[in-house]
Amino acid sequence: MSDDLEQLHFDTLAIRTGHQRTPEAEHSEPIFPTSSFVFSSAAEAAARFAGEQPGNIYARFTNPTVRAFEQRLAALEGGESCVATASGMAAILATCLALLQAGDHIVSSRSIFGTTTVLFEKYLGKFGITTSFVDLTDLNQWQQAVQPNTRILFLETPSNPLTEVADIRALADLAHSHDCLLVVDNCFCTPALQQPLKLGADIIIHSATKYLDGQGRIVGGAVVGDADKVGTEVFGVIRSGGPSMSPFNAWVALKGLETLSLRMQAHSNNAAQLAEFLHQHDRVEQVYYPGLLDHPQYQLASSQQSGFGGIVSFKVRGGREQAWNIIDQTRMLSITANLGDTKSTITHPATTTHGRLSEQQKQQAGISENLIRVAVGLEDIEDIQNDIQRGLDA
Ligand SMILES: *Cc1c(COP(=O)(O)O)cnc(C)c1O
Repeated sequence: MSDDLEQLHFDTLAIRTGHQRTPEAEHSEPIFPTSSFVFSSAAEAAARFAGEQPGNIYARFTNPTVRAFEQRLAALEGGESCVATASGMAAILATCLALLQAGDHIVSSRSIFGTTTVLFEKYLGKFGITTSFVDLTDLNQWQQAVQPNTRILFLETPSNPLTEVADIRALADLAHSHDCLLVVDNCFCTPALQQPLKLGADIIIHSATKYLDGQGRIVGGAVVGDADKVGTEVFGVIRSGGPSMSPFNAWVALKGLETLSLRMQAHSNNAAQLAEFLHQHDRVEQVYYPGLLDHPQYQLASSQQSGFGGIVSFKVRGGREQAWNIIDQTRMLSITANLGDTKSTITHPATTTHGRLSEQQKQQAGISENLIRVAVGLEDIEDIQNDIQRGLDA
């Protein structure tokens, strides 16, 4: 495809960006399972290594399949550069290694992926980088937590599992007024539903393991942002630190992107119907879904997202016994903590994803014993509902 891809629409970019057809004239994107590349002369090798000539060198940091995925995802997020990584966690680690140094400080939402909390506190902490955690939706707390050495504001929106929604534009303004970067983990919405760079965010994190692949086949990640911070700095960490994405995984995720917006729309439609069904069920105490009119940030979600996503959480009347009973009565839904798959999954956060939190932390985060999270897949919504209804009606 030619240079004027930016003028094309999202669904076209998702299908057409990134593939450089080879002399074999293949239609579908090829996989390049090669660790190294060959030079035509010693002088060419020297020019490549010196960075004077662009081109492939070694697959830890240059591989055409990986590059096709990076270019496609960059186009979808509206970013200059994308760097693919071995996992979502590798994307966060590489971003922090690239942009932070000892003595720096992160302000992070408290409602982030559990392993990200461990990375910030335990591992970055070892190298003198500290983190303060705040309520995602309380702008005041973000403001109060910023210190002279703060470099990064970090968040996920909507949050997991309670689907709170952050005001990305307001937090980007706050970050920039303190010379900080806003880093958004856009795993739950994907660029099909939300494009944080367009709202002022500086860096986007992805776990390609989730909706980008969308069929539960690979572990992968990506960082998207400008040519300097991501294209040079994060890329440098991948080149020298090595958490690269494999060509096969890049190919799977690349093909996943082609159907991303169709799938996200279908996930959202199914999730909206499930949320409505649960909302009306008298054994359900509360439903968490940004597309419900009584969601506290319904207006904000409507303005910064083009769909409400596939995650629905709810509190059943009772406690752990009632919640576990609903999970155990399902016959189709997968009891697993993963999400972003065509298959619906059901989770009890208090004893799994959030099981490491203390009682007080759970209470603070709203992770009660009667809370269930459903990552709504693409099965027929009636079958999903019936599977959950069995335990609810019991
Ligand atoms: C899964 C996930 C991650 C980590 O991604 P991996 O690919 O499992 O390393 C990070 N952030 C969010 C929001 C996730 O759901």
